Amino acid sequence: MKIAMIGSGYVGLVSGACFADFGHDVVCVDKDAGKIERLLAGVMPIYEPGLDDLVARNVAGKRLRFTTDLGEGVRGADAIFIAVGTPSRRGDGHADLSYVYAAAKEIGEALDGYAVVVTKSTVPVGTGDEVERILKEANPTAEFGVVSNPEFLREGAAIDDFKRPDRIVIGSEDPRATAVMQQVYRPLYLNNAPILVTGRRTAELIKYAGNAFLATKITFINEIADLCEKVGADVKDVSRGIGLDNRIGSKFLHAGPGYGGSCFPKDTLALLKTSQDHEAPQRIVEAVVAVNDTRKRAMGRKVIAAMGGEVRDRTIAVLGLTFKPNTDDMRDSPAISVIQTLQDAGALIRAYDPEGMEQAKPLLAGVEFVGDAWAAIEGADALVIVTEWDAFRGLDLARVKASLKTPVLVDLRNIYDPAQVRAAGFTYASIGR
Ligand code: NAD
Repeated sequence: MKIAMIGSGYVGLVSGACFADFGHDVVCVDKDAGKIERLLAGVMPIYEPGLDDLVARNVAGKRLRFTTDLGEGVRGADAIFIAVGTPSRRGDGHADLSYVYAAAKEIGEALDGYAVVVTKSTVPVGTGDEVERILKEANPTAEFGVVSNPEFLREGAAIDDFKRPDRIVIGSEDPRATAVMQQVYRPLYLNNAPILVTGRRTAELIKYAGNAFLATKITFINEIADLCEKVGADVKDVSRGIGLDNRIGSKFLHAGPGYGGSCFPKDTLALLKTSQDHEAPQRIVEAVVAVNDTRKRAMGRKVIAAMGGEVRDRTIAVLGLTFKPNTDDMRDSPAISVIQTLQDAGALIRAYDPEGMEQAKPLLAGVEFVGDAWAAIEGADALVIVTEWDAFRGLDLARVKASLKTPVLVDLRNIYDPAQVRAAGFTYASIGR
């Protein structure tokens, strides 16, 4: 099958490369000429484990191409995926659909035979209807179907998630379009991935409901962690104790500094906006968004408390900046609020992240970025672990203690054992223990 992927970011690039790996003929389009130039030179615009090899293999096999020319990508394609960004709209939190609609208009103008236009971007309920209207307006005689196909991959494990998804959701009321989608996903179906065909609006809502539920789970355990601290319980054990119940499940029950990233913050907000527009309030999600918002700065105050309440002119080493390990994505990372809270209180920040520093630099004014963990720790007044990269999980505690000016360790991901760290002579703070 011939596939065009419009937007070659995390989702478009990973999906396009995986489709090519399954034998489809894929062209990835992006309007960012610099990104396409880098891809043509074999340089990945994002950090995602395994992506460079996957792309190189499929480019060499002539199944994967890159272009800035949307028309060239669209002509002759069986399926055209829209995988452009849908960030929060400045000011009101609605999903900004301007990129999706601009792409739809360009696709419409280039359509030259029957094709299925697939919205893979996360879009509010009803967006498929508008995409259909735009395509018709741009090209009244074109033959096409419009389908919703939300993506569930996680950054850091994106290739595996795409190739072995828990499910594939296809929102389509049009049998011809559904048949094309089934061909597109046939290789994954052969891998036993269940394909769920639903109405288009239902598929659009599944994506938001899924993300809102996961954000709720994280926020739930974070509040339980706060209670653990007050009553002398251990949230890791509470989490394990409830997670082993199959009805609950153990995933997304790790207490931490609050969720961030490119999806949960904007998608929970967008769901609330949709719910308001349709007068079906989502009180639980409203609470989740509010609790998570205040949590990030509270984590900064936790660090200040661990340092005795005063951080002015003191140097704090921060390890991990990205919103989670194995990505370079800094969008809405909790590290941003934690660091800003500490800077507001007068602290000096020295930070290191294995992959995210280039993305972090424009977002974090006044931070000194250093080349490795030890350069951050040496001579600092405290060490704060914000993101649980593997490289930070087994630090030599004796060396950390000898390198710090004062032995304070704040572990916002609960990766160290409290008894062990305290026995090593640290003042130690973590989450809910
Ligand atoms: P991204 O910002 O990494 O990539 C979007 C790309 O689209 C950019 O490279 C941009 O230049 C390009 N683009 C915008 N308009 C274009 C146009 N008219 N023509 C060609 N290219 C255009 O975004 P992302 O993280 O890949 O997210 C894309 C969508 O997928 C969003 O709706 C997001 O919510 C959803 N999603 C993301 C993830 C994730 O983990 N990142 C997971 C599931 C779903």
